[in-house]
Amino acid sequence: MKLLIKIFAVVFINLYAINFASAESWGHHEKSEIQIMKLIKSISKDSVQLTNLLTSMPKGGDLHSHTSGAVNMEKIIHWGAEDGVCVDTATYTASLPPCKGSQVSMAQAESDPNLFNNVLMAWTMADFAGTLSNAHQHFFDSFNKFGAVLSNARADDELADILSAAGRQNQIYVELLQGLNSSAVSSATAKYFSSGDTWNEAYLLQKRNLIIADPVFISTLKSTVTDIDNTVTNARIMLGCNTATPDPGCNVEPRFLVSANRTKDRGQVFSQWVYAYELIQASPWVVGVNLVSPEEDSNSLLYYNDEMTALDVLNRFNNTTQGRRKGHVSLHAGELIPSVLPQTPAGQQQLSFHIRNAIGIAHAERIGHGADILNEISGAGIQDLFNTLHNQNVLIEICLSSNQALLGMKGNNHPLNYYIYNSVPVTLATDDQGVLRNDITTEYVKAITEHQIKYPVLKDMARASLEHSFLTGSSLWVQANVYDQPVADCSGDNPLNSSLSASCAQYLQTNQRAAIQWKLEKQILQFELAANTGITTVSLNASSIPAYNQTTTTLNWESSNASSCQASTTNGWSGQVPLSGSIVVNQKLTTTYTLTCNGNSGYNSRSATVFVNDPAGCLFSWAENNYPLLFSPTNYIIRVTPPYTYQYFKGTNSYAGISSVDNDVYYKGADGSLQDVGGIADWLFKAGCH
Ligand SMILES: [Zn+2]
Repeated sequence: MKLLIKIFAVVFINLYAINFASAESWGHHEKSEIQIMKLIKSISKDSVQLTNLLTSMPKGGDLHSHTSGAVNMEKIIHWGAEDGVCVDTATYTASLPPCKGSQVSMAQAESDPNLFNNVLMAWTMADFAGTLSNAHQHFFDSFNKFGAVLSNARADDELADILSAAGRQNQIYVELLQGLNSSAVSSATAKYFSSGDTWNEAYLLQKRNLIIADPVFISTLKSTVTDIDNTVTNARIMLGCNTATPDPGCNVEPRFLVSANRTKDRGQVFSQWVYAYELIQASPWVVGVNLVSPEEDSNSLLYYNDEMTALDVLNRFNNTTQGRRKGHVSLHAGELIPSVLPQTPAGQQQLSFHIRNAIGIAHAERIGHGADILNEISGAGIQDLFNTLHNQNVLIEICLSSNQALLGMKGNNHPLNYYIYNSVPVTLATDDQGVLRNDITTEYVKAITEHQIKYPVLKDMARASLEHSFLTGSSLWVQANVYDQPVADCSGDNPLNSSLSASCAQYLQTNQRAAIQWKLEKQILQFELAANTGITTVSLNASSIPAYNQTTTTLNWESSNASSCQASTTNGWSGQVPLSGSIVVNQKLTTTYTLTCNGNSGYNSRSATVFVNDPAGCLFSWAENNYPLLFSPTNYIIRVTPPYTYQYFKGTNSYAGISSVDNDVYYKGADGSLQDVGGIADWLFKAGCH
């Protein structure tokens, strides 16, 4: 440990020099890099400007993003409202209609800011206050709470939302982790396994034969191949990819990794991987496998090494059997801290070997998180593990926001700089941006502000995301992880030129990976040029609705160094808009407004969510919940008879109302006398209806 601390002390001194050694060569432009580092230094304390700059920065791909956790949560609430989904007002768990007991229609959340907020807090880590173990639990529970909204019917919307978000952040590639119906297969084929069996190659390959012959396996595989094709096609239609105003998401190439659920029995995990390898053969969109759900779950721990062995067997079978397409392996490993593990010697020992065995036994090409590496003392120890990761060219998918929220790791407590110092390739990833409320730009900002990463290193992290992607074909670069010399076929070409030499055109056409890397190099050059002349910036302000009975919102926006701006919302303000302006829009429901502008440096985008200002509804439902003896039964019909906006409660024969003459709240009880109980502002504050 002492050695590592010493190493850490020199990281900051060396980081700049090490990565600057290649500055003169192709792929690194010293002048532009210095310019951008100066710019970053000058705005490092201004989070708005820093975010603007890093939004514009081309960031390659996101290699670690779970589809179900990546979708914007305001959108999920909106889809639930559209689909008539119910939500429980005690647990905030969504369920399919009809609504029963304490459930109400999700649609109510869009016109009740309190309910909307409570749902958002239950479904995300927004404003979460609690211990680390509570945060951990809250995070994993959230997926079950909103799961009912994300049916197959919303698969197209989900992909469109994720691609659009990536495009607006100047990314061009995403690898999404998804079950892709593997759970249907694992449930149906669980019968082929007995718990006491010894796992070895012969046993597993024999089980594989049974699984792939199972009728459920065959039908699920067939329908999923079609589903994926349709989802990609439909998402691109939703994004207007063949229209004159395509969404930035149209620039983003998607691929999928089949994620097996490690909380299940080992036999079911194996079945999911068998299915994954067949899906890789059948669908060009599926490129690899992964392993998801809490790493500290009792099944995850119990079967860890069995599952690494199983993956080794399947992977070897796949990649040595002629005519089969390569299946890639990325594994969640080392997303652990002592407090989430059993407080026993055996439990704590789990900290010491997960990354090592993921690469040593299962031959993982990438590791998700790798946060506990400084505890990985098994085998020849920590330094040997760093060396092995470097020598085997294993990339670490670093998820800073996720590790902070779920593992309490931040700044110097996170091993990011250890990986960099030991020349282990790293890239930044979002993990679950819908639940964590981050985006890829957040991760790049954190790398600068919390880890002192310099721009040239940051740029290579973006490049690493494509170099280590599971796209087919060879790399644009001669040497892995050194981004200064392109292959001979393209060495005479300039990414900024519109025409390519015949050899380069041919190379990019036959190598998907090189083609997307070429696209990134072009974006980087444009971004670095624009950094001298002006980054595209956007601001968007949405006024909240000023009075309780008005239903409009005023939007003001500005941009700089932009050539076009596009608006998108769930309620009508959409399409091409001027580069700056102001507009009054009708708004009856909680709405998220998004403005995306495009310029020389790429896209920049801002969103603003405006909650409905339905204080009357909010106040009355607060009164119903807190004073049932005065206001019952609960009844959601609000009536307007000027000057009053009011609600009548049959059970208590009472009224609650707000007068537009004096903006005071009135109460009329069973005795018929009308009482002025004070100003609306005070009551709204008291009821939490802002
Ligand atoms: Zn993950």
